[in-house]
Amino acid sequence: MAERSTTPAIGIDPGTTYSCIAAWRHDRVEIIPNDQGNRTTPSCVAFKETERFVGDAAKNEATRNPTNTVFAVKRLMGRRFSDPSVQSDIKLWSFKVIEGDVDRPNILVNYQGAEKQFAAEEISAMILTKMKEVAEAFIGCTVKDAVVTVPAYFNDAQRQATKDAGLIAGLNVLRIMDEPTAAAVAYGFDSNDVNSTMKKNVLIFDLGGGTFDVSLLSMSNGVLEVKATAGDTHLGGEDLDNRMLNHFVEEFKRKQRKDITCNSRALRRLKTACEQAKRILSTTTETAISIDCLYEGMDFYSTITRARFEELNIDLFKKCIETVKRCHEDAGIDKNGIDVVVLIGGSTRIPKVQQLLKNYFGGKDLCKSIHPDEAVAYGAAVQAAKLSRQGTEDIRNLVLIDVTPLSLGINVIGGITSVIIPRNTPIPVQKKDVFLTTVDFQSEVMFKIYEGERVRSGDNNLLGQFLLSGIHPAPRGETKFNVSFKVDSNGILHVSAEEPISGEKKQITLINREGRLSKDEIDKMLHEAERSRMEDDQFIKNILAKNAQEDVADLLGRMMNELQEIKSKL
Ligand code: AMP
Repeated sequence: MAERSTTPAIGIDPGTTYSCIAAWRHDRVEIIPNDQGNRTTPSCVAFKETERFVGDAAKNEATRNPTNTVFAVKRLMGRRFSDPSVQSDIKLWSFKVIEGDVDRPNILVNYQGAEKQFAAEEISAMILTKMKEVAEAFIGCTVKDAVVTVPAYFNDAQRQATKDAGLIAGLNVLRIMDEPTAAAVAYGFDSNDVNSTMKKNVLIFDLGGGTFDVSLLSMSNGVLEVKATAGDTHLGGEDLDNRMLNHFVEEFKRKQRKDITCNSRALRRLKTACEQAKRILSTTTETAISIDCLYEGMDFYSTITRARFEELNIDLFKKCIETVKRCHEDAGIDKNGIDVVVLIGGSTRIPKVQQLLKNYFGGKDLCKSIHPDEAVAYGAAVQAAKLSRQGTEDIRNLVLIDVTPLSLGINVIGGITSVIIPRNTPIPVQKKDVFLTTVDFQSEVMFKIYEGERVRSGDNNLLGQFLLSGIHPAPRGETKFNVSFKVDSNGILHVSAEEPISGEKKQITLINREGRLSKDEIDKMLHEAERSRMEDDQFIKNILAKNAQEDVADLLGRMMNELQEIKSKL
């Protein structure tokens, strides 16, 4: 049985645009405000000549120092540089992303007078470190253990990258938890539905800054069971901002015959104005955008109506509703069988999203009582309390059953994926399958592991490959391999295989998880993060010492003046 921990249990929600941290203290969850008093912190890192900013200070740098201010890095986590979504994102970003080793997207910035490249995991680790420091300052002790959330629809590589980011930040990641499940925990405890004897089907609709998740859960008698999950790891407020950004870029082109996309500062300023306008349109029907000297000394003034904004994004909004349909159909539950629809994520404040969802459920009222920006961190803190045996009895007895978001399988003859673990299988799970050689006297076999719902392996996502060599030569179909797929409680896949010919067993291990950081790379990044942290601390100490010196000099100066005055009066 796990040891009862003495330091507070922490839940971190590292969002695409904002991050939130919560702690289990004094028998309840507390959302921890940052040094600015804000309950969410921008997921933003700015690099400068002498220092590095994370959070609010970094966001303030965005328009002044656009090429060195990094945001929305969650969109790069576990993805390849050649991924079409990465390619379309980087076109509109003001900072540079270049192709690194094994098709990895690397972020290129100027820091401390030199060009530096960072992996997405490293930037994410800087944000996690900031959140850790926020908690440590608030609680007054070192924080190590944390539950970190990810979109339910994050695949294996994206989960692994998030876990690696936690490692680089010096955290002990107790569990990678699905965001909608965390939100459901927050809802379940707030409404007490999780402890009721009456079973309720709850649909969590989570539309955040960069990702969209839908999960359908049933809850009763302290058991919270995910029935199905669906989503899009590349759909959120950022996409809506980008649609509006493109709209105004085209308008500027028409009006001034100039393309501002080559100027990162202009692009960043316009994007910030678009996000602001989008938020305003959630409460008004028309708003204006006004930016002085946007490009080559030209001002930009325009207006946009809510109707136009909706028109620009209607396909994305409809996609959300189709995903809801797929989710409850996957769970085998009719839409009339859903008792509560809970809204989570900042983008669910958009009236059109709410209207389409309400219409889909035949005019059913949507549950807005859970804080859309804080619920995920809240649920993660509850889970952290449970895992570190700190929570109340209700929490310690809570049973959470999650599922795999995507089918997992192996490439077989004909380039087809043979599914071993189908999507929406409860986790943790282990499944085994038997495969045979396909060529006479084959001495080695390459196993390719895929995730996804398509029949052809080429259309699915390649996770990694196994090479099993030195196998017993025999006519095809005679040599067997037992392949085992295990998905752990974090949703991360472990694969192994053995060849049991003549009683002899041979174990093989995964040799190449595509694009994943190696242990050495993680260690190097961990040291680098530690060094940067020490440098930042030293920098702050120097500033404080300099300020203190100036204060003393100032004080001495004032005393001398006062003495001079007294002397002249005397
Ligand atoms: P989250 O990841 O849940 O923090 O959501 C952040 C996203 O919500 C960002 O894209 C914000 O622009 C968006 N958002 C926050 N408030 C509003 C609002 N009032 N109307 C529309 N979008 C919003």
